[in-house]
Amino acid sequence: MEVNCAGCAGCCIDWRSLDEDGPDHERRGPWRPLDDTDNFLALTRDEIRAFLESGLGDALTPRLWEGDGGDDGDGLEIDGHHVATVAGRPAFFVGLRKPPKPVAPFDLAEPRWLPTCVFLDPTTLQCRLYDDDLFPAECEEYPAHNLTLEAETECERVEDAFGGDRLLEDDPGDVDGLLLGPGAIGAKVFAHPRPEDLEGVVERAAREELSWADRAEFLAVAAASSPGTIAVSESHYDRGRERALEADSWVGAAIEAWHDRCDGDERPEAELARVIEDRRGAPGTPGWDER
Ligand code: SF4
Ligand code: SF4
Repeated sequence: MEVNCAGCAGCCIDWRSLDEDGPDHERRGPWRPLDDTDNFLALTRDEIRAFLESGLGDALTPRLWEGDGGDDGDGLEIDGHHVATVAGRPAFFVGLRKPPKPVAPFDLAEPRWLPTCVFLDPTTLQCRLYDDDLFPAECEEYPAHNLTLEAETECERVEDAFGGDRLLEDDPGDVDGLLLGPGAIGAKVFAHPRPEDLEGVVERAAREELSWADRAEFLAVAAASSPGTIAVSESHYDRGRERALEADSWVGAAIEAWHDRCDGDERPEAELARVIEDRRGAPGTPGWDER
């Protein structure tokens, strides 16, 4: 897809606070995310396994949903939340974490603390995974899936809010990896086989206070899932949980440091990324000439 991404990063950032009249597109319908993140990037089972095997499990987090389910779903009561289910099991995505980072997208004069994908370099507004096998398919394809589904794209939202041309073509062409309906189960939408184990966890998810063991539990179930079914492989579960609990990459340390800086009311300066990410081993970004 031809898009003008330089200085944008609209699909990598939760920028609702810059456009309070904009649509809260992830919170429509009978099921709403338990967390308050926007532009949550859901990964496939194989991508989750690859992150875990690369020691980057600390970049990942689950998303659950709650609501009344409308006509489509029964749900389960856990910790006072009516949680969305698949075949009676709590349903969840796994995606990339978004700590607060000092970013200045859309030609803002000064950086602001905004929830930002853990792999976005705040100084270049480019992805640190562009040249990596771990670059998620959803990011590679964006915004083709939205266009195929006739859903508004983040590029268009940025144009509406800040002007300029971001979406340079509107034909998505042939799209790979569009997982919908039953085909998504076990491949992108996962089902936790032991709802009783999630007591306490659901409330922590709603408060965005999941422990590392909580996250590891969801990552292990996702990694052990089987596309098209709700089956969970015990051996893959054990392997996934072990890899998740072992994860100790630059990403996890950087996320903690970003939260500390933001909570400490530090002035948001993009150059902080040199200390917080680069010196911990974050890969560099290619520059716009190379894209
Ligand atoms: S919102 Fe569109 S133009 Fe902006 S970075 Fe994402 S794909 Fe590129
Ligand atoms: S992985 Fe890269 S392209 Fe995808 S949301 Fe994160 S920073 Fe953006």
